[in-house]
Amino acid sequence: GTNHLFSELRANWTDLDKVALETNDGRQFRYRDILALTARFANALVAAGVKPGDRVAVQVEKSPEALFLYLACVRAGAAYLPLNTAYTDAELEYFLGDAEPTVFVARPTHASAPALCTKTGVAGCYTLGADGDGTLIELAADKAETFENIARGPDDLAAILYTSGTTGRSKGAMTTHENLASNARALAEYWRFTDRDVLLHALPIFHTHGLFVASNVIFRSGASMLFLPKFDPNEVFRLLPRATTMMGVPTFYTRLIDDARLSRETTKEMRLFISGSAPLLADTHRAFEEKTGHRILERYGMTETNMITSNPYDGERVPGAVGFPLPGVSVRIANPETGELLGADEIGMIEVTGPNVFIGYWRMPEKTASEFRDGWFITGDLGKIDATGYVHIVGRGKDLVITGGYNVYPKEVESEIDALPGVFESAVIGVPHPDFGEGVVAVVVKTKDAAIDEKAIHDALKVRLANYKLPKRVFFVDDLPRNTMAKVQKNVLRDAHKDLFV
Ligand code: ATP
Ligand code: MG
Repeated sequence: GTNHLFSELRANWTDLDKVALETNDGRQFRYRDILALTARFANALVAAGVKPGDRVAVQVEKSPEALFLYLACVRAGAAYLPLNTAYTDAELEYFLGDAEPTVFVARPTHASAPALCTKTGVAGCYTLGADGDGTLIELAADKAETFENIARGPDDLAAILYTSGTTGRSKGAMTTHENLASNARALAEYWRFTDRDVLLHALPIFHTHGLFVASNVIFRSGASMLFLPKFDPNEVFRLLPRATTMMGVPTFYTRLIDDARLSRETTKEMRLFISGSAPLLADTHRAFEEKTGHRILERYGMTETNMITSNPYDGERVPGAVGFPLPGVSVRIANPETGELLGADEIGMIEVTGPNVFIGYWRMPEKTASEFRDGWFITGDLGKIDATGYVHIVGRGKDLVITGGYNVYPKEVESEIDALPGVFESAVIGVPHPDFGEGVVAVVVKTKDAAIDEKAIHDALKVRLANYKLPKRVFFVDDLPRNTMAKVQKNVLRDAHKDLFV
């Protein structure tokens, strides 16, 4: 039989001598090497006792080998389960206990990993270092460079990815071969990837963005990538002339805009900059275009659904909008309480269905059931579809502020604040209020040396927004709290101001 996902990717590796991945320190891997290395890893996993359907948990630094281990798991019929390198032992105990992997691959420096494995009942404990060192490499060293791929169908499990934990405890999203294959296909075509593309890869690979969106699109196109251990402007500017595309979180782009080297000249070899994982400010979109002539293409997705919408390649890339549903993917807007479908420009819950949508949360059947409505996944994001079909996100359902019985969509207030001179960005939250239930509060980051203050913001908003939407207080901070995927942690802000009115 065939291995659904691996076959989909492998079919496009027509030139095995082509360099598929090059690290910033010059290590090169041809497609031929990827075939050999993933075979050796797959053989090593089998030797370590991994059987089809088993989980392989991995918490390692970003490296080519870590990426190949993902493909090896796919070939071996196992589910790849990457973990954020920021997780502590206490957090890992939950993830390993929850996922019950057959093998845990840790960093060589992670001295307590064996004890953790014993404690959580994980039989195989291995290491993998950023320079291709570690006991997993030793185990793989004498293994064959060929591997009979385990037969896997479209609906078989390919990976379990934990969500970013922005709104609560991370949930393990079970992703199938077809979820990933269909999304790679849709994105590669939508974004016009060919084997001539070179992706500047600076994202982490424990998250869907850097792991699946970036890598699967490249592998699906027989293209290549320049692989950075992390986002580093110096390295980005050094390698940009050799790249054709980049994928990033919004903070990558704001950091590039702040860098004097960003220009038409330094980006002239590029054909496409893509942004996702968190909202891209319309100002960032415009500032980037002013400096480079490139219009960043923003897309929207989540761990559970892979990518859902994207701005068009040829058509208008609308700042602040996330574009159209991808081919094969359907999006609808529903009343969050009743499920009643809403019309153009009406704000409601974004729901999605298609081959991209996961099959459920790992060992949380009730949670899974409650997040689907007639086969449509309830994303938890609020948004609208405008009359021309563009999807707009107005924020997460959990961030909606209800004050005196009125709904306040943080994005609307944030957009007004962000548009004021002297404001770089803002986050609007609701905190407990004795009279209104919740009171609107704004947390604002000024641009350098701006003189704007609380009263100026209040006066400016007063003529723009209904009274109930106005922030009752405005606080200034140097930076908004963000997690590793650059997402604003509104729970941290809510917590910091929870006693403001009570
Ligand atoms: P958790 O589900 O654990 O709270 P999370 O939702 O942040 O964490 P991810 O799956 O990494 O975990 O992120 C998906 C979310 O990221 C989406 O639901 C959406 O809120 C946000 N997102 C992704 N892309 C965009 C975008 N282009 N614009 C606005 N928000 C986006
Ligand atoms: Mg989520």
